Amino acid sequence: MTEIDMRWDGWGDPSRAAEKLPAGVTLLLTAVLGHRPRRAERLRLDDVELTTPVLDAADVAALAAAVGPDDVRTDHDTRVRHAGGKSTPDLVRRRARRQAAPGAVVLPGSEADVAAVLRIAAERGLAVVPFGGGTAVTGGLGPDAGDHRGAISLDLRRLAGLERLDEVSGEATFRAGTRAPTAEAALAERGFELGHFPQSFEFASLGGFAAMRSSGQNSAGYGRFDAMVTGLRVVTPTGTLDLGRAPGSAAGPDLVRLFLGSEGALGVITRVRLRVHETPAERHFDAFTFPDFRTGADALRRVTQAGTGPTVIRLSDEAETAVSLAQAGSIGKALSKGCTAVVLHEGPAGVARSRRDATAAVLTAAGGRPASRKLAEAWHRGRFGAPYLRDTLLEHGVFAETLETATTWSELHALRTAVTEALTTGLADAGARHRVLCHVSHVYPTGASLYFTVVAGLPGDMAAAWEPVKARVNDAITAAGGTISHHHGVGTDHAPWLEREIGEHGLRILRAVKKELDPAGIMNPGTLLPVGSGA
Ligand SMILES: Cc1cc2nc3c(=O)[nH]c(=O)nc-3n(C[C@H](O)[C@H](O)[C@H](O)COP(=O)(O)OP(=O)(O)OC[C@H]3O[C@@H](n4cnc5c(N)ncnc54)[C@H](O)[C@@H]3O)c2cc1C
Repeated sequence: MTEIDMRWDGWGDPSRAAEKLPAGVTLLLTAVLGHRPRRAERLRLDDVELTTPVLDAADVAALAAAVGPDDVRTDHDTRVRHAGGKSTPDLVRRRARRQAAPGAVVLPGSEADVAAVLRIAAERGLAVVPFGGGTAVTGGLGPDAGDHRGAISLDLRRLAGLERLDEVSGEATFRAGTRAPTAEAALAERGFELGHFPQSFEFASLGGFAAMRSSGQNSAGYGRFDAMVTGLRVVTPTGTLDLGRAPGSAAGPDLVRLFLGSEGALGVITRVRLRVHETPAERHFDAFTFPDFRTGADALRRVTQAGTGPTVIRLSDEAETAVSLAQAGSIGKALSKGCTAVVLHEGPAGVARSRRDATAAVLTAAGGRPASRKLAEAWHRGRFGAPYLRDTLLEHGVFAETLETATTWSELHALRTAVTEALTTGLADAGARHRVLCHVSHVYPTGASLYFTVVAGLPGDMAAAWEPVKARVNDAITAAGGTISHHHGVGTDHAPWLEREIGEHGLRILRAVKKELDPAGIMNPGTLLPVGSGA
């Protein structure tokens, strides 16, 4: 399948960018921000001035000798396109006239190429930033050279494709640079599916999912991405590992897990082996309403603990429910109270229906009322669309960002309150009128993740104004016992908070592992392990 390049200063397929805000959204924003949002001019790619130099000629020649001259790119546009990820602060930075970019973009065509690039980088004192789909939202793709002379972006797009499908075992081996839609298309041809659908599905890569411990919208049914991984190959500066031998093993600590979440700081994942399943024969969408978020969350807990087996189950709070309805054009309904849950069951014929009935019985016994299944179908149709709206909002001077965390069911509401308060006071201090939306995005028998969306009229440099607000939220999350990230990862943005989660000893262990695998510290400096931590 043909893969397109993402918009350089925004999300997704450039042909799907919308200039105008939907009428319902404009109305809501005018009420929230106190003024009607206005569209500003966009910077042209040609007008971006890069503040970091191109690698010197000897570096380029050494890399070109390893991967071929066409696959070492130093042109302005390619460098800008690899200058960072796709968080809203990233996009704000992308829209600034002066910005930093990697000194070159290198596209290895084989695992041997990757090993050669790492060797050259270590010899020549260059940092290496692995680049999968480029959809990171926690800062792990910045051209940070650390103490090195320069940084290269290692774009893994040529390392793509299905290598093997073991239909008997339900296991597929892919090269790590394969984008998710390409992987699903290859599996679908053979009657299989992976079932990993994060909102970034259309552009993210399998290696990126493994490196970030991603979680997709169907996680209730098929698990997080790390639960799907049965094996990995990883090239590190000190050697290559081939990990994951059997579906269960007691051969010491599981090194596959060490590289899940390693975020390019320990090595380059070149191959991913994954659990896959037959394409579901049946699919049933449902929606339920609840009088309030607490009742809805408790109903989701009961479903998860009863194990009735939904593929998707998510609950929007009152504010998010209202906005979803407004976006759908039902402004009148936006004023109605309550929360909405969308539910999907899929699986073999007959099985999905019986699971659906079991889930519906638990939800209604817990206070839910069946609503039009069109709500769930509309969510499914539009589930990859929100990032396009974020771009249009940014063009209208409106900052929209998301953040997430997770905790146990018993602590869920305290965590939600702590995050909401941190956001509200932080944004008020920044002088920003705002709205905070929240949903339960992923569920487990013992707890759930909370996903927040913030829409704010941040004044001045929006990325700079957001920084202290985000820091306050991170403090609140760690103080309330939540995880610093349920699925967006650590990156550079959360690195200063990692010690609060894993302890000083935990951080020392990670540093020791990094020192063994990457003695020169060339792999993604500042990502995962905080700067100044000796890593
Ligand atoms: C609009 C939007 C929606 C999103 N929705 C979700 C969501 O629903 N669920 C979710 O989990 N995440 C989501 N994300 C975050 C992001 O898509 C995930 O973190 C994803 O796993 C990144 O994959 P990628 O291929 O784009 O990796 P990249 O962004 O290219 O890289 C991410 C990090 O992993 C490293 N890396 C990438 N490939 C490799 C490799 N092969 N070996 C070693 N290191 C590597 C990079 O150096 C970087 O540190 C979203 C992001 C955006 C912008």
